[in-house]
Amino acid sequence: MARYVDSVCKLCRREGGKLFLKGDRCFSAKCSFDRRSYAPGVHGRQGQFRRKVSDYGVQLREKQKMRRLYGIFERQFRRYFHQAQRQKGLTGVNLLVILERRLDNVVYRLGLASSRAQARQFITHGHFGVNGHKTNIASFLVAEGDEIVVQENSRKIDHFKQLQKVVDEGRVPNWLKLDLGNFSAKILNLPQRDHIDATLNEQLVVEYYSR
Ligand code: SF4
Repeated sequence: MARYVDSVCKLCRREGGKLFLKGDRCFSAKCSFDRRSYAPGVHGRQGQFRRKVSDYGVQLREKQKMRRLYGIFERQFRRYFHQAQRQKGLTGVNLLVILERRLDNVVYRLGLASSRAQARQFITHGHFGVNGHKTNIASFLVAEGDEIVVQENSRKIDHFKQLQKVVDEGRVPNWLKLDLGNFSAKILNLPQRDHIDATLNEQLVVEYYSR
């Protein structure tokens, strides 16, 4: 399977905004974007003097930003777009809802991992179960009513033992319900557009794929 191996902080600098890909580090003084908020590469600092970006350039950057935020490769992301197109309603919103329904995103939103990358690792290592079945598929799409649990054996791991001290339940979006005492969570309903990152412009992504 393909894997991105370069520094993920470069992705934030390329997209011109914090994508919060490194967990706690993103909130510390070590954040690379806070220290060097210009694009990577030898011409990065000169970016501000470049001529106006074309419509295509704006659409491309928005698509890349959304894809990188959720940590998805191009082929899978395009597949999600086609899936969103086949659904009723607005394609852009459908796409965002599909991305939010990924199990790695849900684990991250619940605060059970500090980044989507860490959530993905926990899932592939078999620390989570959905509806009573262990699953190691980070791209699993949750549905309304699904129950996610930390597997019994995994609850002894330091990270999960500490959860009650570090998780801020107030930050869990209201389409999810977290029960830290039982190491479980429930999908109350599917997310609506206003539950999802307001800085993302899904219309530009639709325009990018509709060229
Ligand atoms: Fe982006 Fe986090 Fe790196 Fe800052 S520390 S540049 S927010 S990945």
